[in-house]
Amino acid sequence: MLGAIEAGGTKFVCAVGDDTGKIIERIQIPTTIPAETIVEVTEFFKQYPIRGIGVGSFGPIDVNRDSPTYGNITSTPKPGWRNYPFVQSLEDTFGVPIGFNTDVNAAALGEATYGAAKGLDSCLYITVGTGIGAGAMVHGKLLQGWSHPEMGHILVRRHPDDTYHGKCSYHHDCLEGLAAGPAIEERWGEKGVNLVGRPEVWEMEGYYLAQALMQYVLILSPKKIILGGGVMHQEQVLPSIYKHLKEFLNDYVTLPEMSEYIVRPGLGDNAGIIGALLLAQQAIEER
Ligand code: ADP
Ligand code: ZN
Repeated sequence: MLGAIEAGGTKFVCAVGDDTGKIIERIQIPTTIPAETIVEVTEFFKQYPIRGIGVGSFGPIDVNRDSPTYGNITSTPKPGWRNYPFVQSLEDTFGVPIGFNTDVNAAALGEATYGAAKGLDSCLYITVGTGIGAGAMVHGKLLQGWSHPEMGHILVRRHPDDTYHGKCSYHHDCLEGLAAGPAIEERWGEKGVNLVGRPEVWEMEGYYLAQALMQYVLILSPKKIILGGGVMHQEQVLPSIYKHLKEFLNDYVTLPEMSEYIVRPGLGDNAGIIGALLLAQQAIEER
């Protein structure tokens, strides 16, 4: 049996599963402070004979194995989680191999193995939810350099009708600051789910996300782009992205048919947790 954790800013999903990506049991725990949340995580996994645990975590996190702080959450504003030694704490408790990556890299791995990018050696998984982030699979491996990519914080050109200041506490009007769920809510004064009848909201959302996708396509040339996260549940977003991306690219590069190239997750909301199972498997193999 393998353990998997999808660690999010609002909730942790913990699961046990097997090496075919099948989930056997799962629970959801609210993310409060480590002392509370990790106790519940421990109680859950203690019930099962797990051989390894994979973690797909909110970030930023230290994924550099040569670093003295490898396995830590780094600069989050979430109380108690800043510099939290996530991997060390799980290793101390369970004594099994721990796989550790970003939530979006885990989701990219899940989608590339069992989902919409199955059989491809490259893909990009983007989440548009409370934040915006992306994980990339390149040549069959998760993309990592001195750290993990932070593709949600790129700069974008402003929509001519947008006077909203932006929500990112570091950069104000980066992509996440203009287009993640909380930015939509603050700009329009209403939660995204209640803005179905306001086409201008989704026109603007597509304008921003299409710019990001253009840059990702031009820089990484992924074979498939997968869009997940709460905001993507809004059905008007994807058509708006297609429209704007076509305009921005202006036939400079010829993409595959948009509706097959830029898609929703094949694993639905399970991409991250199934990806975390795969991280556990990789950690065992590496050991
Ligand atoms: P998280 O990013 O915390 O893992 P989600 O991916 O569910 O969580 O994203 C939550 C965000 O998505 C919230 O800002 C919420 O308002 C927004 N959201 C959820 N459902 C919808 C919807 N149907 N339309 C637009 N926005 C939505
Ligand atoms: Zn930012």
